Amino acid sequence: MPRPMPIDPKLGINAAVREATEAAERGRDVPEETSDQAGASSKKRRKRKPKEPEDTPPRPPMVRDAQSRDLALLPKAHLHLHFTGSLSVAALVALADADHERLPEELTDAQAFSAPATTKGWFRFQRLYNIARHFVRGEAAMRAVVANAASLDAADGSRRLELQIDPTNYANSVGGIINALEIVLDEATSSSQRTGVQVGVIVAASRLRHPIEARTLARLAARYAGTGPGSVVGFGLSNDEWAGDTPAWEGAFRIARNAGLPGVPHGGEMRGPDHVSTVLASLQPARLGHGIRASEDDRLLEMLVEQNVTFEVCPSSNVHLGVYPNLEAVPLRKLVSAGATVALGADDPLLFLSRLNDQYVIAREILGFNDEELAHLARSSIRASFASDEDKAGWLAEIDAWLE
Ligand SMILES: [Zn+2]
Repeated sequence: MPRPMPIDPKLGINAAVREATEAAERGRDVPEETSDQAGASSKKRRKRKPKEPEDTPPRPPMVRDAQSRDLALLPKAHLHLHFTGSLSVAALVALADADHERLPEELTDAQAFSAPATTKGWFRFQRLYNIARHFVRGEAAMRAVVANAASLDAADGSRRLELQIDPTNYANSVGGIINALEIVLDEATSSSQRTGVQVGVIVAASRLRHPIEARTLARLAARYAGTGPGSVVGFGLSNDEWAGDTPAWEGAFRIARNAGLPGVPHGGEMRGPDHVSTVLASLQPARLGHGIRASEDDRLLEMLVEQNVTFEVCPSSNVHLGVYPNLEAVPLRKLVSAGATVALGADDPLLFLSRLNDQYVIAREILGFNDEELAHLARSSIRASFASDEDKAGWLAEIDAWLE
């Protein structure tokens, strides 16, 4: 079948891409020091320290630098981001404007979504997500979502984005599920070239549909399996964690694994350690979407560390979906101290109003991670990505340079 056409530049939808690109460029190009003060490029954008009083003894360099490095310049990988949920509010508004439709206020006000961690709370979240998804119709809109996500990730220091989509949800407006996936993969390739962020795609089945559909989806995903930009790089399972019987998806994950696609199902977000154990046993994940509540069972946590299962931890999301009462309560440090591989992610910035780099800022400012520890988190995210070893090595060297 023919490859989908790129976005028509005459379409208003391009405003979404333009907005994201401009935001990315603003983020990159505003130097905080004048050129005569600028040193090495890695130091150029660090915040200037306030001048210390004359009688204050100089602090050792390690301490002085500890909290001054620009986190947006820390190279990292973004492994937990949903398709429509990745949009900025401005990009969603541009999509609605192109359709001459009005968005509900709860999607455009400055208030992040918040709900208790109950089935009712999840239902409210899903309802709002579905409303937003209604505006992602047609090829140009789908391309705008990928382009927007890549540009905003670039501004956050991401080197690799693994964007999660259930193509079933977008199939109707583009003539089928194959078209939906091909459009996303094609735009992932273009966006990777434009932004320098490698964009891979996670095809995710939904817990709200029959597991047989998931197997069909896994077979489709397998046709595009790879590691590079514009490939399907993993297979997921998302939506209401209480829905369905987890072992029923075993077949779909086996099909994906046999095609070289590692499993990245959600688990241990709304439900606790028992469900994480079930996910682990039946779906054999390489990474857990969230997994954060495995922290409630030390033996399970130890087992996950031993098996090198990565935790895709999304602190903002956890608080907005009521898993924890506040950011201080997110047990990120417990996971890291136990030796877990953790990759911070934003989940759904459209609803939580918090993007990738914000999660690193939270780790620094709320959870007390110093720069060495933040670099460790970033390294973990790179290692847990499904990029090639060669690409990973290059990005890890860039993290070393950030710390120098
Ligand atoms: Zn998620």
